[in-house]
Amino acid sequence: MKILIKNGRLTDPASRTDSVRDILTDSGIIEKIGRDINDSAEYTVDARGMWVVPGLIDMHVHFRDPGYLYKEDIFTGSAAAAAGGFTSVLTMPNTNPAVDCAETVSYICRKAEQVGFINVFVCGSVTKNQAGLTLSDISGMAEAGIKALSEDGKSVENPTLLKKALEECKKLGIPMLSHCEDAKLSANGVMNDGARAKLLGLSGIPASSEVSIVARDIALASEIGAALHICHVSAKDSVELIRAAKKKGVNVTAEAAPHHFILSEDVLDGKDTNFKMNPPLRGRDDVEAVIQGIADGTIDCIATDHAPHSSDEKNGTFKDAPNGIVGLETSLPLCVTYLVKTKILTPLELIEKMSLNPSKILKLNGGHISVGGPADITVFDPDAEFIIDPAAFKSKSKNTPFGGFKVSGKARCTIKGGRIVFKD
Ligand SMILES: [Zn+2]
Repeated sequence: MKILIKNGRLTDPASRTDSVRDILTDSGIIEKIGRDINDSAEYTVDARGMWVVPGLIDMHVHFRDPGYLYKEDIFTGSAAAAAGGFTSVLTMPNTNPAVDCAETVSYICRKAEQVGFINVFVCGSVTKNQAGLTLSDISGMAEAGIKALSEDGKSVENPTLLKKALEECKKLGIPMLSHCEDAKLSANGVMNDGARAKLLGLSGIPASSEVSIVARDIALASEIGAALHICHVSAKDSVELIRAAKKKGVNVTAEAAPHHFILSEDVLDGKDTNFKMNPPLRGRDDVEAVIQGIADGTIDCIATDHAPHSSDEKNGTFKDAPNGIVGLETSLPLCVTYLVKTKILTPLELIEKMSLNPSKILKLNGGHISVGGPADITVFDPDAEFIIDPAAFKSKSKNTPFGGFKVSGKARCTIKGGRIVFKD
């Protein structure tokens, strides 16, 4: 199928292009990029006033499949991703069973291919059943195509085991994605530790729980020479550690989630569990530090940590409800509204963090729009204003703190492998 995208603002950080172009795709490949392309095509997208960007890549999602299909599955997760402008995601391994062997990796890849909306890449767990005791079948999972290792949901507590896993990562040329949390320090905390937690009578998770593991993992990765990626950075001191490590030449990258650069603990009322996630919403100075890290390049990627939960689960008390919020269908508008409209990032810089950098970190063939490259393209209207309505989500779950937020930036057409997988 041929698709012609006319008069859009091509925003492609790989080639530093940010100007109006036409794009022609044929059979899943980008065939032509230029001005005034008038070839006949089966489908034409009028992209006047819109940005045409390499398909967005979210390197941190939970599709809950296998095991928790009442929260999400590969079909609904893929549909939510496409609607949010994403053509590729990396799924985290804390499913049931955990992704710790080749069979489970293959199950996810097969199902994703049947669904076919987006590219679903798989992250394998560091330890068997994520129990922290012995390493998973890392070489088997590598053969089945994993793009990274992670114990996401928690840290690998045993540093000796983590060292072994980092050595495997180095051998395989894949990154270790670190969810940084000292479980003993975060104990039974449910929100950021501080004055607000005291006021609400809730137990706190100190920033040190994250920061101490960021420091440990940077030290280990640097010693071994493995690629380390810090997930969902939330604390000021974590940003500073990552900045310093990069300056020293350590192979470390980092991501931040929209909620951590938009919301602080001040918005918590101790009741609405859509504001409960891990790491928790931090203090205002932490939020400012994350924004600064995004602006100066310390933080390489925006990732959603898309974590669906059923409304039954989220309807519990703040203390008992599970951590996590959905993010695939709100990330692009939140980023346009809070990072680009505020001039913290240029359009090229945003797309770098939402597509090119995740592609580089995971070594995917994506993140760029170039002749001969894959026709993974997102067309979106940066000025389309709307109110976020969780009821309209394609995700099975509606747990977002951003319902009712007025934002701008809407995906109009998502093209994956030369096929239109979402159209608004
Ligand atoms: Zn995590």
